[in-house]
Amino acid sequence: TGSQAHNVKLRELALKKGLSLNEYAFTKLDSDEQIICADEETVYKTLDLPYIIPMLRENRGEIAAAQENRLPVVVTQADIVADLHMHTTWSDGKFSILEMAQAAHARGMTHIAITDHSRSLGIANGLSIERLWQQRKEIEAARAEFDDFTIFHGTEMEIKSDATLDYPDDVLAELDFVIASLHSGLKQPRAQVMERVLCAIDNRYVHMIAHPTGRLLGKRDGADLDMTRLIFAASSSKTILEINANPRRLDLNADNARRAAAMGVKIAINCDAHHIEQFDLLHYGIATAQRGWISAESVVNTWPLEKFKAFIDRK
Ligand SMILES: [Zn+2]
Ligand SMILES: [Zn+2]
Repeated sequence: TGSQAHNVKLRELALKKGLSLNEYAFTKLDSDEQIICADEETVYKTLDLPYIIPMLRENRGEIAAAQENRLPVVVTQADIVADLHMHTTWSDGKFSILEMAQAAHARGMTHIAITDHSRSLGIANGLSIERLWQQRKEIEAARAEFDDFTIFHGTEMEIKSDATLDYPDDVLAELDFVIASLHSGLKQPRAQVMERVLCAIDNRYVHMIAHPTGRLLGKRDGADLDMTRLIFAASSSKTILEINANPRRLDLNADNARRAAAMGVKIAINCDAHHIEQFDLLHYGIATAQRGWISAESVVNTWPLEKFKAFIDRK
């Protein structure tokens, strides 16, 4: 397993050792003697390399890193204790707050954020400010059902086409976790769409940008963002960037996630579940993070509750 480019690199290494490598075995070039490899570990061992997990086999520096014994220890699904982006019947989700919480709890999570859509996304039944405060009551009732599980009251708020946010600051200040995202005006020219994203990142109440580019694989391209500038702004304002685990999004992609984490940006891996079964999409997000060399430490969903709370309080 591995990308073509990775395998080519391995063959080059083998040749330097006087071996030829095919699918299953090495052959000594001077004697035709075969070294059969029962497993992939043996392949790497024969080349004097530590084992390289499949997600890192992209020929993006992993072989040099392996030779220097500095392969990254990447995040795994077992590290995840939270999901910070999901929808309920209050907007366009299929299950209640309590049902989503129970499903996340059953999957071993310790905390979640309920983040329904905001008022200007009418197509998804976005919440007016009045409904947002009604929802708070139902969240409080759901909280009372658990003694070892925390439910944050959040929002997935529209960044509107005119570069304003969908709720005023005094509303955002009352919410536990504020996501901002683009669902409209994705075809705006770069300067305009960047102004929108930067206005969200710079807002002191916005904790995270969800699916930053808004791309839908096979359906529409993402917005024309200046990722370098976006990552820099997120880094200096302590704004989390999401890897959306939905296989139609995978946004951030692995390359941008890697650049962001290297700049010190914290990453969230969320299912954006609209249905309890969509919690099972997590592995797609994990695989993307692994391809991006992301460590567990960079991923806020791996942090214990108190550490996460302290981080989002600090923005
Ligand atoms: Zn969204
Ligand atoms: Zn969402």
